[in-house]
Amino acid sequence: MPILFKKTKEIRNYIKSLRCENRYTVGFVPTMGYLHEGHRELIRTSKIQNDITIVSIYVNPLQFGEGEDFERYPRDLERDLGICEEEGVNVVFAPLDEEMYPEKPLINIEIKGLTHILEGEFRPGHFSGVCTVVLKLFNIIQPDRAYFGEKDYQQLKVVQRLVKDLSLPVEIVPVKTVREKDGLAFSSRNTYLKPEERESALSLYRSFLLAEKLIKGGNKDANSIKQTIIEFIRKHPHVKKIDYVEITDEDLRPVKEVKEGDRILLAVWVGDTRLIDNWRIGDANL
Ligand code: AMP
Repeated sequence: MPILFKKTKEIRNYIKSLRCENRYTVGFVPTMGYLHEGHRELIRTSKIQNDITIVSIYVNPLQFGEGEDFERYPRDLERDLGICEEEGVNVVFAPLDEEMYPEKPLINIEIKGLTHILEGEFRPGHFSGVCTVVLKLFNIIQPDRAYFGEKDYQQLKVVQRLVKDLSLPVEIVPVKTVREKDGLAFSSRNTYLKPEERESALSLYRSFLLAEKLIKGGNKDANSIKQTIIEFIRKHPHVKKIDYVEITDEDLRPVKEVKEGDRILLAVWVGDTRLIDNWRIGDANL
């Protein structure tokens, strides 16, 4: 009698157990390099949960639009390898462009209601590029788990949906945003900030605390909270432009009345640096 499976998950698990003699689990941390504390946290989480941890370091040209910072994005493979060694990473995958894209891909990936809002509105094609590289990397590495930071909350939601809609055999593990002592979220792009711009960059984090205070004080109106955030950030000297401030539920649907678990998401230009950040309402210890 054949073994009968009626659940995808179960047959996949069965096939996997047949395939791997050694029963290793592989954790995968995709990055664009110039590693910092945020990346380290992803790696550490993977190390705890898997036998093998693989980090990819690849500045993916497909997810950058024309006139964006692809060329000036910080790169330092030697430094990154040192950090990976410190963290006990087992494998690093650092492909060249010709390896990843022998020909310019013609595929376009869209997820309705997710890839064209917020970041997608200001960076057309960005998430198609992200989804393409993530799918390629998943196909190459075939990880059991992959680690994504909440710092890029929309990216996390997009990847989660990609995995769900295409039944990809990988578990997406979200990792909370790691911040510097003063609240600035770690980002490779923080290296662009001039010293005098840093204080203005802190306005993003501080606006979240301000919003939490308003909400604790009884204001639940998303529009008025958004306006307060915009006015607060705008006051800072090096803030050039606010691309968006949105308050959504955890699935990125805009809300009128805020509740615990909703997200504030924003993108702000400080000097020539575009910073994104987000906050889960209810996370502040006021
Ligand atoms: P990147 O190299 O910027 O493409 O980021 C690679 C991964 O690290 C993504 O899943 C990011 O969300 C995550 N990440 C970046 N910065 C942080 C941070 N400050 N805290 C947690 N995760 C982060």
